[in-house]
Amino acid sequence: MESVTLDLQQSFGGLNEAVLVTNPDRIIVFANAAMEKLLRVGQHDLIGNTTKPFFADPAQFDRMAELYQRPADQKNRRMYAIEAVLGDGTRKQLEVVSAPLFDTSQTLAGLLFISRDVSDRKQLETQLSDLALTLEDALDAILEGFAIYDADDRLIICNDMYREIYAESAPAMFPGNRFEDILRFGLRKAQYNTGGLDDEAWLETRLKQHQAADGAVIEQQLETGRWLRISETRTSTGGIVGIRADITELKDAKALAEKAYRNLHLMADSMSACVGEVDLEGKCLFLNKTGCAWFNGTPEELLGTRLREKLPWNERDSVRSLFMEAMSGEKASGEIGMHFPDGVTRECLMDCNPRFNENGEVDGLVVVISDITDRKKTERTLAELYAITSTRELGHEDKIAEILRLGCDHFDLPVGIISHVIGENYTITHAQSPGDTVQPGQSFELKDTYCTLTLQADEPVATGHAGQSEFAAHPCYRLFDIETYIGAPLLVDGIVHGTINFTGRDIRRRPFTAADVQIIRQFADWIGHEIARQRDHQALMDAKIRMERIASIDDLTQILNRRAFLEKANTEIQRFRRTSQVFTAVMMDIDHFKSINDQHGHAAGDDILKLFTRTISRELRSVDIFGRVGGEEFCLILSGTGLEDAFTVCERLRKKIVRSCQDPRLSQVVTCSMGLAVSSREDVEFSTLMQKADTALYQAKSSGRNKCVMHDASPDSIAV
Ligand code: GH3
Ligand code: MG
Ligand code: MG
Repeated sequence: MESVTLDLQQSFGGLNEAVLVTNPDRIIVFANAAMEKLLRVGQHDLIGNTTKPFFADPAQFDRMAELYQRPADQKNRRMYAIEAVLGDGTRKQLEVVSAPLFDTSQTLAGLLFISRDVSDRKQLETQLSDLALTLEDALDAILEGFAIYDADDRLIICNDMYREIYAESAPAMFPGNRFEDILRFGLRKAQYNTGGLDDEAWLETRLKQHQAADGAVIEQQLETGRWLRISETRTSTGGIVGIRADITELKDAKALAEKAYRNLHLMADSMSACVGEVDLEGKCLFLNKTGCAWFNGTPEELLGTRLREKLPWNERDSVRSLFMEAMSGEKASGEIGMHFPDGVTRECLMDCNPRFNENGEVDGLVVVISDITDRKKTERTLAELYAITSTRELGHEDKIAEILRLGCDHFDLPVGIISHVIGENYTITHAQSPGDTVQPGQSFELKDTYCTLTLQADEPVATGHAGQSEFAAHPCYRLFDIETYIGAPLLVDGIVHGTINFTGRDIRRRPFTAADVQIIRQFADWIGHEIARQRDHQALMDAKIRMERIASIDDLTQILNRRAFLEKANTEIQRFRRTSQVFTAVMMDIDHFKSINDQHGHAAGDDILKLFTRTISRELRSVDIFGRVGGEEFCLILSGTGLEDAFTVCERLRKKIVRSCQDPRLSQVVTCSMGLAVSSREDVEFSTLMQKADTALYQAKSSGRNKCVMHDASPDSIAV
């Protein structure tokens, strides 16, 4: 055995291959250095032992006993894969090849094993098979249909989704089947929407696309109505990789989005507000129809520009500061008056809404500019109307004039008119016009005024361009050349009184609004009430005057009655006490009046009373006060007249009576007696002065009648 070992040493000792030899009893008799190194042991661990300790699975060691039992069967080398436990306890995958060794008598002398470390290779293989599995898993995990065809256009692999998408042709999708055959299979099952082409024509086109495999995206519709997006690419080995995605939902969503976008534009265009979108630099990205009109340009001219630069410089700052505020991420709003390039000045409410990108950063603004001119104007006009109608400082006429002015201001029209309509006649009662060319009192035929239309309609009527409306046919258009008109019926106590209307010869820039109609209705309502109130007031005043007259005038003689006369007389006393301007009171009584009544009747007496008062009244100044204080007793106050002068006046009156107060039917001459008294400090009330005059009258009577007697402070001084 020793020599055998030596031989073995000579044959295998220096080999790089690990070699080990056992005897028929499986005892190791030789191991070269490479084997020692492989197994990480020394000679003494090997020689004389079996290899059993090196097997991770001892049963495998036992199974390999077969090598010894029928060695003749082992003519060819046999290979084992063994998991070995090395001297240091680590494990390795070894590939072992054995060969029987026979002696000269053909008896088994032992077995020779050559081992190789295949751990790395094994690991690689595992990795590869894992990779293949992973690839299949990965393919199936892909949500798109995936297939690889080889250079012969035969299917190598496809995933489940590919089969799912082309469910009809799935049975034909086995590796090795040709693309064209799979297509034909599907065609027979009417899987594809061939768009009216016959199968062969469709197939030809499809194959051409497939063979091009240039990565171009193709859309294909199936008979089910679903849409696929196909992309095919040539591999480096000449095969074709194809990916199919179901884009039905995507296509639907895209169509929906396109429709929504169109609708959004339509919506924006139908808005009366200016709607726009600007980028961070304030450049316009979108502008609706209203916006284009206000900024006086086409989208081509306006998009990409900074619209605020088209505003006067002093308005740009307000716009910019709103932009800045909104750029910081907060919605910003403000009211700004703007002079737009279309030549119209609008009071605007500007809303700036920040637009955010996916990262939550502001990347632009959506700007809505609403025209609130009318609202603002209406608010101001209503406030002013309230102020005018509620003030106590203006009279009826002033208020109506102010309302006409307010209307001209509000409607921006030169002429405002209030008319009174009686029958077919239209008369201006109040007017506001440049240079007062339209005057109250001017009269027209109702049919020649637009107010016929207003009264027919029984509600406010307006036009901003008469020439292009039914107003053009109206005589007023021809006669007065009025393009703009707004008018409302004026009702007083529910009855048509006339109209209020505002007119101008220019075509109106901005059409009348519902608010304008509301405003003129308010004007008409208020003026109607005001006219009714004024009418009531006038009626009241007239009644009051009548009542006062009734209360203060004597029916028979039409001069002041006793109560009214005494009232005025007392006022006269007070004036005298204030100013010391003297006056004289005269008591008068017709002489022997009773006998007139007695002889000629009461009516004749009445006639004399009337004639008497008329005669005296004619002789008096307007400042004198004359009243009937008894049946045929009268009292006269001669203002600013001292006693002497009054006496002269009274004498004249007395003589006048004798001359002019006669009735030829009477048997007697009508005369009268008078008693005079001048005001003095002691007369606190008129009654005391009247008393004095009465005393003087009594003296006149008792001393013969038809006389004037002055009351004297001294009891016995009687002047005649
Ligand atoms: P004397 O000169 O003293 O004044 O005499 P006389 O007759 O005028 O006397 P007195 O003044 O007392 O008479 C007043 C008369 O006047 C009495 C009355 O019948 C009459 N009388 C009073 N009021 C009216 C009246 O309204 N109409 C008429 N016709 N007579 C009246
Ligand atoms: Mg008398
Ligand atoms: Mg008398």
